[in-house]
Amino acid sequence: MITTANSTSTPLLGLSLEQLTDWVKQQGQPTYRGKQLYDWIYHKGAKSIGEITVFSKQWRETVGDVNIGRSTIHYQAIAPDKTIKYLLKLADGQIIEAVGIPSEKRLTVCVSSQVGCPMGCDFCATGKGGFTRNLEPHEIIDQVLTVQEDFQRRVSNIVFMGMGEPLLNTENVIAAIKSLNQDVGIGQRMITVSTVGLRGKIREFAEYDLQVTLAVSLHASYQNIREELIPSAKAYPLSQLFAECRDYVKLTGRRISFEYILLAGLNDLPEHAIELASQLRGFQSHVNLIPYNPIQEVDYKRPNTQGINEFMDILKERKIAVSVRYSRGLEADAACGQLRASQA
Ligand code: SAH
Ligand code: SF4
Repeated sequence: MITTANSTSTPLLGLSLEQLTDWVKQQGQPTYRGKQLYDWIYHKGAKSIGEITVFSKQWRETVGDVNIGRSTIHYQAIAPDKTIKYLLKLADGQIIEAVGIPSEKRLTVCVSSQVGCPMGCDFCATGKGGFTRNLEPHEIIDQVLTVQEDFQRRVSNIVFMGMGEPLLNTENVIAAIKSLNQDVGIGQRMITVSTVGLRGKIREFAEYDLQVTLAVSLHASYQNIREELIPSAKAYPLSQLFAECRDYVKLTGRRISFEYILLAGLNDLPEHAIELASQLRGFQSHVNLIPYNPIQEVDYKRPNTQGINEFMDILKERKIAVSVRYSRGLEADAACGQLRASQA
C-alpha cells in the first residue's frame, strides 16, 4: 500500500525491465531510460529517483514523489560470527526481520514473507506475536537488496525462514522469487521456501514448476506431538501432509527438506527418530535437525550435543540423509521473531 501521493500506483521495485521501460515512456522519457532505471533499482541500490544521477536534474525534480518501494533499516544487531539481524521499517510503519548470514563462500539471506504469522506454533516467537498482514513482492525483494547492500557483497542464497508462512502468501512469494531470479540474478536453485504445511498448498506450489527447494517444517514424527507444537496440525494430519509431499516429489522430481526442531525430552527420543526414519523410508528427502533456540514465552529445552548426535545417528543408520543446522547469530537475539519482540 502506498500512502504518499505518487505518480505511480505500484512501487517500481518488482517491475520487470519491460514494465519499467513502459513506465519511463509514460513519463515522456526515451526508451533507454528504462534500462538505466532497472540497473539503478536492482543493481545500484537507488532508493529514490533523485539519486539516479544519470537522469537529468530537471526530470528528477519534476517527476514527483515516485515510490521505489525500499524499506529503511530500523535497527541492526551483529553477532560475533558476523551474522547480522535487521529490523526493517516498511512504508506503513510495520517492522519485519531479515537476517544476513555470511560464510566464506556464501551470503545467505533469511527473508520474511508476512508481518507476523497466524499459525501460532508454540516454540516460535513470531507465532506468539500474532499476524498483521502479507508482504508485497517488493517488500520481499527489498530485504535481499538491503542485506546485499549492507554487506557490500552479492547474495548467493535465500531462505524463506523469517517471519511468516510463505504458502499463505504464495502469489506474492512467487512474484518475488521470479524477480529475485530474473532481475536480481539469484539462481532459483539457491532459494529455499520453508512451510509448516497447509492442506492443498504444497500441491499448488508444485504446479508453479520452480527450481527452488521446498522445506517442510515437520518437528514431530507422531501426530499427537505435532499437534502439541503446531495448532494447524490437528486439521491437517501427518498422513495427509506426507501424501501431499509424495505428490510434490512425483510432480516436480525434486527432493524435499524436512525441518525438525529438537526439543529436549519432547521429540528428541530414540523412538521419535526411529519413527521419523520409518515415515521417510523410500522418500526423496533430506532432514535438517534444528536444535531449539530458547524463546522467552515458553520453557522448552534444547538437547545437548550428545542427544543431538544420537538422534542423527539413528537416522543415518537407516540411510536417511540428515544434517544439523545450528542457528547462526544466537547472540543477536536468537530465534526468528525474537529480535522484533525485543526491539520494536
Ligand atoms: N513458517 C515457515 C517459515 C518460517 S519459520 C515454517 O514454519 O516453516 C522457519 C523455521 O524456523 C522453521 O523451520 C521454524 O520451525 C523455525 N523456528 C521457529 N522458531 C524456532 C525456535 N525457537 N528455534 C529453532 N527454530 C525455530
Ligand atoms: Fe509461523 Fe513458521 Fe513460526 Fe509456525 S514456525 S508460527 S508457521 S513462522
